[in-house]
Amino acid sequence: MRDIMAPESGRWRAFTQVFAEVVEAAGYQLVIPPMMEDLGVFSRIGDATDVVTKEMYDFVDKGARHVALRPEQTASVCRAFAQHRPLTPWKAWYSGPNFRYEKPQRGRYRQFDQVGIEVLGADDPYLDVEVIALGWEFYRRLGLEQLTLLLNSLGEPDDRARYVDALRTHFEAAGGDLSDQSRSTLDKNPLRVLDSKRREDAEIIAAAPTIDQFWSDAAAEHFATVQRGLTALQIPFTIDMKLVRGLDYYRRTTFEYAGGTLDSAQNALGGGGRYDGLVEDLGGPPTPGIGFALGVDRTLLACDDEGVFTAPDPAVDVFVVDTTGGGEALLVTAQLRAGGIRADRSYENRSMKAQMKAANRSGAAYAVIIGTDEVEAGTAVVRPLRDDGAQVTVERDSLITDLHSRVQGSNS
Ligand code: AMP
Repeated sequence: MRDIMAPESGRWRAFTQVFAEVVEAAGYQLVIPPMMEDLGVFSRIGDATDVVTKEMYDFVDKGARHVALRPEQTASVCRAFAQHRPLTPWKAWYSGPNFRYEKPQRGRYRQFDQVGIEVLGADDPYLDVEVIALGWEFYRRLGLEQLTLLLNSLGEPDDRARYVDALRTHFEAAGGDLSDQSRSTLDKNPLRVLDSKRREDAEIIAAAPTIDQFWSDAAAEHFATVQRGLTALQIPFTIDMKLVRGLDYYRRTTFEYAGGTLDSAQNALGGGGRYDGLVEDLGGPPTPGIGFALGVDRTLLACDDEGVFTAPDPAVDVFVVDTTGGGEALLVTAQLRAGGIRADRSYENRSMKAQMKAANRSGAAYAVIIGTDEVEAGTAVVRPLRDDGAQVTVERDSLITDLHSRVQGSNS
């Protein structure tokens, strides 16, 4: 688990803000689920997934409840829906940390942030298109260009079940040629074997049956409509029949956004899909759902690699230098901040030289200097710090107006 320090932390905040703008413009509203829930909420994600069986931070609290830090937010959002029954279609977005006890490495942490959306209560392939397109639009707004959209359909639950049986038969026939890891995965969930990146599994996986042979007519039609919609919006995609995604609850459409710059184990920046059974599993009525989660950490690494979406400039506009003891700086910074100018100052009544050094280090565009002469005359000296323009003396009464025009000039 890491500290996110400035200036990187400013980037995180900007990230969430851009995401909020994109999805709120499409009618999604913020939901803030708790970070910890009854373990049972997350067990519904599926007992064949590492996320649930190996990676959960769970413990018994002082009231003898078995609880867990959330490993993701879809289950919580569905639990919230089942509990509060908002009007449908319910379009929600979220952001915040999740916890998984994974092996930490670049792009994989034990506390990591996601932003995401979920729509509950509408079963329309055009909604799948909307959801996928919003993720795409968000990445575009960040400036990422090396992005691939991978798309698949897991079919209806029955199709998926028949496919799982066929996969089991196929992988069991391979027997001892499969890696030990894949053989143990096979016992729990044959679909997950498709995710194996082990060399000894590659050929067996390549020869495995593909899901399209098992799609019902309805599932095939749904998927065809999704593809037509994406094409109409000019969003390029690649069909990847091996894309089954990590969690057990997906049905029909699944998708993933892959970055072009991270190594392949960590290049999934985000993904999602349809999960028509989850709300019901959590005690609600049968409710179709679809959504995605995008990893903040990993997306920002991809932004670093592409040199886009850099940290916003954290510098204040003005640094106030007061050689009269600090009381004038107190007043002036308060006035400037109230007037919409970002202002900082130094403390402990330092020398003029030390204060000017602090002013330069702050990155501010201007120093406002106040000494005894200025206090007597009711003025302040405004000195440019980023270029060697001349300093001017300004009436204190017009300081805010004067600085506003200067700051706007230097920012444009
Ligand atoms: P998932 O919830 O497993 O479908 O993951 C969705 C996205 O969350 C992934 O594509 C990653 O970007 C991100 N993610 C998942 N697990 C981690 C982790 N341990 N550390 C950092 N990012 C993660």
